[in-house]
Amino acid sequence: MTTPKFAPGPAGAALRGLPRTDRLVEAADQAGMVEKLGHGAVLEAVRAELDRHRAAVLAGDPCPSPEAIEAGLLDRLREDARGSLRPVVNATGVVIHTNLGRAPLSDDAIAAMGRAARGYTNLEYDLVAGERGDRYGHAEAPLCRLTGAEAAVAVNNNASAVMLALAALMDAPPDRSGGGEAGVRPLAAPGRGEAEPGLPEVIVSRGQLVEIGGGFRIPDVLRRSGAALVEVGTTNRTYLRDHEAAVGPRTRILLAVHRSNFRLSGFVHDTPLEELVDLGRRRALWVVDDLGSGTLLETAPFGLGIEPTVQERIRAGADLVCFSGDKLLGGPQSGILCGTREAIARVKRHPLMRALRVDKVTLAALSATLAHYERGEALEKVPVWRAIAAAPEALEARARGWLAVLGAAGAGCAVRPSRSAVGGGSLPEVTLPTSVLALPGPPDALAARLRRGEPPVVGRIEEDRVVLDPRTVLPAEDEALVAAVRAALAV
Ligand SMILES: *Cc1c(COP(=O)(O)O)cnc(C)c1O
Repeated sequence: MTTPKFAPGPAGAALRGLPRTDRLVEAADQAGMVEKLGHGAVLEAVRAELDRHRAAVLAGDPCPSPEAIEAGLLDRLREDARGSLRPVVNATGVVIHTNLGRAPLSDDAIAAMGRAARGYTNLEYDLVAGERGDRYGHAEAPLCRLTGAEAAVAVNNNASAVMLALAALMDAPPDRSGGGEAGVRPLAAPGRGEAEPGLPEVIVSRGQLVEIGGGFRIPDVLRRSGAALVEVGTTNRTYLRDHEAAVGPRTRILLAVHRSNFRLSGFVHDTPLEELVDLGRRRALWVVDDLGSGTLLETAPFGLGIEPTVQERIRAGADLVCFSGDKLLGGPQSGILCGTREAIARVKRHPLMRALRVDKVTLAALSATLAHYERGEALEKVPVWRAIAAAPEALEARARGWLAVLGAAGAGCAVRPSRSAVGGGSLPEVTLPTSVLALPGPPDALAARLRRGEPPVVGRIEEDRVVLDPRTVLPAEDEALVAAVRAALAV
């Protein structure tokens, strides 16, 4: 900021009332902030605070007292000392909340991350043979057992999984002769004047050209990965014959994209994956399925509607199925590619794989999460599934428990039935029965106090009340939540 330090007239006199930089740094040091944050960060905050006051004074505001300026600075530094990325109590009821960091991890996954982070690991070292091992192989065996796929690999997130899948498969068609990778015909390089000039093509239904959020749009991803997009069908109805008619000499991939964050209803038809697979077999094309959430458990018994499972998409014959590690799987941020040996081998060999690979800490958490599924204990141990499977009576009991602990401080609070929007952007229109603690008073100011508390609590506003949904509050957070509510209501 470049507000002038010296100004003539009354503003100049007022500016001389501002404390000096070194005086404020000293005050911050006495409050322990230099030790916590370092001298550079404190100095920067002091200068920013003084610049802000200087600009306000020049704009005609009265100059605050040195004590008020110092108190404001210390507030700001204390806030900084809490760190930028902080734990937040999610009382929204949205289980897969991208803004709040998606899946909380299981105790086993957290412990595995700690062990992997603390020391060295056999990340790329084969302990039996005493030689270099396969870093991509760590989560592969459980992923194959759980999904029925021949091979699998994890990358940074599902957006990168989709990008990598397209990039890795569009250079050459699959070998449909059954003889491994030997029969692969390379595609003529673009513009060489061969029989097949131009970009390789990916066929997608118009009804599946979705934007996932954060600017991840399937048409853009396709172009960025070096392919030409061929749209087929209409927004609401696409048939096998639409895909078939679009197949040309440059077609390499048939892509299916799950409509994760919106619903089409009414006069709707999607080409079933099985039919795409059949077309892919007949015309030597890859079939890639972007499944989005990618659940391993049936969702219908929990009231979530029918989400396709990874297993059934593999069984249907997709060459690659891509899904998120931190949506319904309930693991760390990652993207998982499952599929045929040939397709995964191509993915692992692609140069982008090196750029998108996951680290040892993520692999540790992913493996520990998958182990819960292998042991058949995902519903009890994976927090995302524990939240989804929570019984309405148990949720009501927790909300009543909060109210009881609040005691007199909870005057005006009430427990009432409501519905949790489970998926946020992932499972549109799906809600599950819950009970919430409704707080008294104007909701906007109260919600802001809760957000600024320690720990910050994020609820939702319903019928002009802030309500807190126990579905997404971890049991270990109950006490902190009640304390934060008490503090926010006490104002
Ligand atoms: C969520 C989603 C993605 C992106 O996954 P991230 O793990 O967030 O990168 C891609 N495709 C679909 C269909 C999705 O639902």
